Amino acid sequence: TLKSRRGLPQKRKIRDVKKVIAVSSAKGGVGKSTVAVNLALSFARKGIRTGILDTDIFGPSIPTLLNLSGEPRLDEIDGIIQTTASSPLTNYGLKSMSMGYLLPQTQTDSATGEVPMDTTPISWRGLMVTKAMHQLLHSVSWGPLDVLVLDLPPGTGDVQLTINQEVIIDGSVIVTTPQDIALRDAVRGFGMFQRMDVPVLGMVRNMAYFACPNCGHETRIFSHGDGDHSHGEDRGVMAECKRLGVDFLGDIPLDARVCEDADRGMPTVVAEETADRSARRQAFLSVA
Ligand code: ADP
Repeated sequence: TLKSRRGLPQKRKIRDVKKVIAVSSAKGGVGKSTVAVNLALSFARKGIRTGILDTDIFGPSIPTLLNLSGEPRLDEIDGIIQTTASSPLTNYGLKSMSMGYLLPQTQTDSATGEVPMDTTPISWRGLMVTKAMHQLLHSVSWGPLDVLVLDLPPGTGDVQLTINQEVIIDGSVIVTTPQDIALRDAVRGFGMFQRMDVPVLGMVRNMAYFACPNCGHETRIFSHGDGDHSHGEDRGVMAECKRLGVDFLGDIPLDARVCEDADRGMPTVVAEETADRSARRQAFLSVA
């Protein structure tokens, strides 16, 4: 495997795409996909031609978040995956591609309908994953895009390395929660990007505080060292950003509406477009 890794193709640009921004988190469940999709929609809302590529193999969430399903159209001639403005893979002005559109529901070969006999489900899955990942990275016909947001799988494992080795990522955004444990992992994520020569654009602190819908009081539920917004902080996310020399991009509140918006497939940036005072929407826009 060492040999084959060394023999990997050089990093290349994703075709038709000017800038690639990877959104990552070292832990699952911190709101990486929620931030990624709202970030992408914030760009799209500003008139920037934007796409989002969901590379989370074992938990693709972009189809749900964008209320999209179905298979991408495959170009008969060159096998290029098409995402056009009129295809069902665009919603809210944002083009999207996901493992969720590509992997069959059951573990059968999508072409023959047969379950491969000579492989265990796990090794078959690994094979499919590599193939599909390669296709996702290099065979999607995005049309001209200014920005492609990559929703990376959580963690700093093999898949992340493969993606980093295969495509030129112009910058990465690390999503964390204020908890010590999530932050420690986020720092590990920072190390990975540094080793891969990917500039880290900054960190986003999701679920930073809970804003009571009744009285507006802000409670820092997960706070450990990350004190009140307005005061100097010597521990936590902001301090870590300072230490690493990385920008702190902003706070996203823990808000039941963010979760409800996600569940009904209309992310907050779109759902609350007319409610211009919505703090949660403003939070996502300001990160963008
Ligand atoms: P990840 O991609 O890191 O696994 P998700 O974006 O899927 O995390 O978020 C995990 C869950 O937390 C989802 O149900 C999502 O709706 C919810 N969630 C994410 N961010 C927030 C937030 N700021 N407020 C409330 N719920 C959130």
